[in-house]
Amino acid sequence: MRTGHIAVAFLFSCLLLTQRASAQLAVDSSTILEDIRSWMEYLTTDRLRGRVEGSPQNQEVTRAIADYFSSLGLKPYLDSGLLHTFYRDNTDTSISTSNVIGWLPGSEKPEEFIVLSAHFDHVQVGYYNKTDKIYNGANDNASGTSVLLAIAKQLVLTGPYKRSIVFCAFNAEEAGLIGSADFADKINPEQIVAGINLEMLGYPQYGRQAVMLTGMYNSDLYKILRKRAEAASIRFRRERGDLFERSDNYSLAKKGIPAHTIMASDDREPCYHHPCDELKRMNIPNMAALAKGIIYMMQGLLDGSETPTRIRVQ
Ligand SMILES: [Zn+2]
Repeated sequence: MRTGHIAVAFLFSCLLLTQRASAQLAVDSSTILEDIRSWMEYLTTDRLRGRVEGSPQNQEVTRAIADYFSSLGLKPYLDSGLLHTFYRDNTDTSISTSNVIGWLPGSEKPEEFIVLSAHFDHVQVGYYNKTDKIYNGANDNASGTSVLLAIAKQLVLTGPYKRSIVFCAFNAEEAGLIGSADFADKINPEQIVAGINLEMLGYPQYGRQAVMLTGMYNSDLYKILRKRAEAASIRFRRERGDLFERSDNYSLAKKGIPAHTIMASDDREPCYHHPCDELKRMNIPNMAALAKGIIYMMQGLLDGSETPTRIRVQ
């Protein structure tokens, strides 16, 4: 299921026109839905045992995402390959962990990058309550990963855009934002215009097509996304909790990049970090609607007309 359907993708449905600028965007709703569903089924299977970093199952997922990026024609970014490998323990290089990073060069401002990211690792079997139950991490964060991968295909099919886009499938988030910290250390933060991180989009805790942007007042990315939210049929809820510092956006924000996380649920969701975080609780049509809405809300960032203020992290 992993390499998708790019050869048979038809770009006819859902023509969305921006009222303001120029961009004309044709996204394929049925392919988005199908891609999200097939990635969700794959990522949440018990066989992958929660995709915990350092495991063979995590490495299998890493390769699957890299094969997919490769099939989309995404290019290696700041490295010779799509995998950015790092070691949790520098004295022991037998266990490596990799982010999967690919980019789509911009047509007019290739040196200006928009980062779109999600982490694909989850927690180990029995990690929290020591029962022998698999934590499938369907909402956290197979959901963000599947939406990222579906969006990546759509942006390749409808691109190139004026700015470059870097797609980051981060690893070892659950272990302490380690994959994104490795990435943040390798990049030139000045080149990254904005970062949008995707988390927990499968369980619509805030209602249909409703999301929250973490750290919503830390930069004006919120204002930029908000402008198109109504046309994108996305509703923004007021931020709750301390979530800005608890996902991979924070690794980038610490470098000054306006990087925030879009979430449709948070740690008050009853199955958060529990074995019941399973595929059957996920609302896949809602995820597809969110994916479409996110693509639409990003248009000003992608066409170079919108640039958020840099972020200040205390
Ligand atoms: Zn988590």
